[in-house]
Amino acid sequence: MFQRIIGNDKIKNELINSIKLNKYSHSYLFLGKSGIGKKLIAREFAKMILCLNEEKYCSKCKSCIEFDSNNNPDFQEVVPDGNSIKIEQIREIQKKVAEKPIISNKKVFIIDDADLMTREAR
Ligand SMILES: [Zn+2]
Repeated sequence: MFQRIIGNDKIKNELINSIKLNKYSHSYLFLGKSGIGKKLIAREFAKMILCLNEEKYCSKCKSCIEFDSNNNPDFQEVVPDGNSIKIEQIREIQKKVAEKPIISNKKVFIIDDADLMTREAR
């Protein structure tokens, strides 16, 4: 887990422990300067949450395989449409949150550059 990510050991350990203890929050904010690995950590954490195996990062189960090929239907990233994340994008996510997961027993959404949400989208 997180082998591809250098540094940020404290955060990585906290996230791994929360998975092992099955005690993780419904949402996380990854804050910090650009280029420090926030999105990479968020993606790896999402993969762990969605993994179907006990070890929680098997890279062999259907969820992990689909995740690695960017096809996991229980995972979605929202990126800015132009220079902002718009209310329509958030409404679409709200609809998907209400739907049942397909492969895993959870769904994970990453809102990239969440600071670019318009006032209405927040
Ligand atoms: Zn897996």
